[in-house]
Amino acid sequence: MNSTDFRRYGKEMIDYVADYMETVNGRRVTPDVEPGFLRDLIPPEPPKNPEKFTEIMDDVDTKFMPGITNWQHRNFHAFFPTANSYPSILGELLSSGTGCAAFSWAASPAGTELEIIMLDWVGKMLNLPTCFLHENNTGGGVMQNSATDCILACFLTARYTALSRMKRMSEWENADDAIMASKLVAYTSELAHSSVLKCAAISLVKIRKLEVDENFSLRGPTLEEAIKEDRAQGLIPFFVCATVGTTSCCSFDNVSEIADVCDDEEIWLHVDAAYAGNALICPEFRYLIRGIEGVDSLNMNAHKGMLLNFECSLMWVRDCHKLTSGFTMNPLYLQHNHTNDAINFMNWGIPLTRRIRALKLWFVIRTYGVEGLQKNQRERVRLAKMFEESVRGDNRFEVVGQVTLGLVCFRLKGPNVASKKLLHRINESGKLYMVPAIMGEIYVIRFTIITENANDSDVLYAWKVISKIADKLPPAVSV
Ligand code: PLP
Repeated sequence: MNSTDFRRYGKEMIDYVADYMETVNGRRVTPDVEPGFLRDLIPPEPPKNPEKFTEIMDDVDTKFMPGITNWQHRNFHAFFPTANSYPSILGELLSSGTGCAAFSWAASPAGTELEIIMLDWVGKMLNLPTCFLHENNTGGGVMQNSATDCILACFLTARYTALSRMKRMSEWENADDAIMASKLVAYTSELAHSSVLKCAAISLVKIRKLEVDENFSLRGPTLEEAIKEDRAQGLIPFFVCATVGTTSCCSFDNVSEIADVCDDEEIWLHVDAAYAGNALICPEFRYLIRGIEGVDSLNMNAHKGMLLNFECSLMWVRDCHKLTSGFTMNPLYLQHNHTNDAINFMNWGIPLTRRIRALKLWFVIRTYGVEGLQKNQRERVRLAKMFEESVRGDNRFEVVGQVTLGLVCFRLKGPNVASKKLLHRINESGKLYMVPAIMGEIYVIRFTIITENANDSDVLYAWKVISKIADKLPPAVSV
């Protein structure tokens, strides 16, 4: 394809995407397809000869698009918000257009510096303590592939820090890293995202899932007790991952109490604020992360609330030297004139090659302004509260947990089977899409507000569909 064709098809592609966004609400939310459907439509072997772009687009239209789940549909209420926006798409396009990797300052000076500035911008929007900002020179932020990557980078850093500390003790002087690591233990709550457990599995360390209180919150005394038990067994506590906005029900661990315990015990405290971190751009929600000044690192998925497409995972650390100590490799081919006096993000996490994601963040923050993004957050919370009222107004249903941000967990009163059946029928209808969660023994349906232009009529429609399907459940099931 030459630049003339690219100009032509590129403009058509922008139209294609804009048409999709304008008409997505006319489609089913979830596709009506079965596993393997695409194998029947796309040849098993790659084409030997070049094909025309128009032919490719015909297949996109007729074979690929009918099989996608429409995450930007106004009736998609699953997972956490993932609202796309036009400036975000354009930022991604420019990033692809530069074909540039921002793994070291020299590999992309502007890409690296824009990322530094954007992480400080967002850090200030969240009102993070200044120790997390690059401006402060000891801490700073970085963009990773996913929240899981953020948690893993901090998990491995905490392990590296703990092992380095152990090596300085006479007891462990000549011990093998693997033997020392077998003594380490991490903690998280039973409601933490599964990615925390995955990080422990990858890091080959033990992890304990601790009980939450009646508000689904991990508390300091619970952690303190677990640490005491483990120390008595000869284990070495080294890492805690607290969650601010759990995936199941958007509950909040008590960061302040946990930070006090971690401080006393020399334990790395990470806060996973993948979803709820976005709300901190509004001053009225900052109480949710009280105690942040005692935290070593935190992560947030800006694509879960700042009108950015995936993925836009941000992570901040209080001490970037601890982070880079474990990740810095210095082969000759990656060295440059500013290796030692500039930031090289390849040393801030696991991957080497990384595209410039800061462009879309820059585009979005400038297009909406902080006030525009705050307004969007508040609107999501207002709509969730409106949905909550509908649930509470129907005595067949109950709300589980508190509705603090944009997530409502609800269920049919009585045994779990009724809510399971209800959700199955709703999703099968293709009219709405939601996912369940389990809180202790209680099965709940999660309803979250996604799209940029979501409004009252979406909430009214969703409730109408849910209550109509509930009307049709057999009496034994609807209780
Ligand atoms: N942590 C929380 C609280 C989440 O809700 C999620 C995903 O929804 C994750 C971690 C994992 O995010 P990612 O898909 O970016 O790895």
